[in-house]
Amino acid sequence: MSQIEFKNVTKVYKNGHKGLDNINLNIEKGDFAVIVGLSGAGKSTLLRSINRLHDITDGEIIIEGKSITKATGKNLLAMRRNIGMIFQHFNLVKRSSVIRNVLSGRVGYHPTWKMVLSMFPKEDKRKALEALDRVNILEKAFSRSDELSGGQQQRISIARALCQETSIILADEPVASLDPLTTKQVMDDLKRINEELGITIIINLHFVDLAREYGSRIIGLRAGELVFDGPTSEANDDT
Ligand code: ADP
Ligand code: ADP
Repeated sequence: MSQIEFKNVTKVYKNGHKGLDNINLNIEKGDFAVIVGLSGAGKSTLLRSINRLHDITDGEIIIEGKSITKATGKNLLAMRRNIGMIFQHFNLVKRSSVIRNVLSGRVGYHPTWKMVLSMFPKEDKRKALEALDRVNILEKAFSRSDELSGGQQQRISIARALCQETSIILADEPVASLDPLTTKQVMDDLKRINEELGITIIINLHFVDLAREYGSRIIGLRAGELVFDGPTSEANDDT
């Protein structure tokens, strides 16, 4: 059984635009899967379908043997909690501290709530600090999030996903607004998490060079259709 299965998945937006066209795809546990394609190819549409940030129009997505397409209520919430997500623009609460943003991955807690840090369960704080250590920004735990550089802010969002203790992390163009050096650091962090913790990473990237360097597997999209799916070594310039 694959960890994630797309079965004939089609997504048509309300304006009639087909974002995904009959996608069949299996993602295996521990994959570092890179989705490549031109702007508008459907990368983000595909990623957002996995954790049901939006509904698909047709077909079904199965995660660890259960249909997220058909899940409702508590079952849907539990499935979504097992999937972390990282965005291009970080989606942090900027005026809140780094550790509060990271803790929000772990508990059903929002970074702006006034609850004092000493009230959090020790185990939650331990996990948050451990996650920050893993992405090398432990010393920033009590800084305001917007005092950190772009690359460091993306690491906060990686730590938040780690703190959520998920088996899958989705990353939607996580390095698109970062410079080359910072890009490398963030990609290295994601690779390390993938290798050390066995977390499946599915990532949208603009640049095929980065996809080749980091991916174990490349998925190519064009106009909502799957045009390539295979190990990185088999991807060529047309992918
Ligand atoms: P859905 O079919 O998933 O419900 P909607 O049509 O309601 O999607 O649009 C969701 C959001 O996406 C809206 O805020 C809309 O403004 C935005 N949106 C609409 N068209 C586009 C587009 N071509 N590219 C990106 N976003 C768009
Ligand atoms: P990518 O991530 O590869 O750049 P997207 O998945 O964002 O591509 O978009 C795929 C296609 O669907 C594009 O043509 C885009 O304009 C369109 N699209 C995205 N979101 C919406 C929306 N909410 N409503 C209508 N069309 C959309």
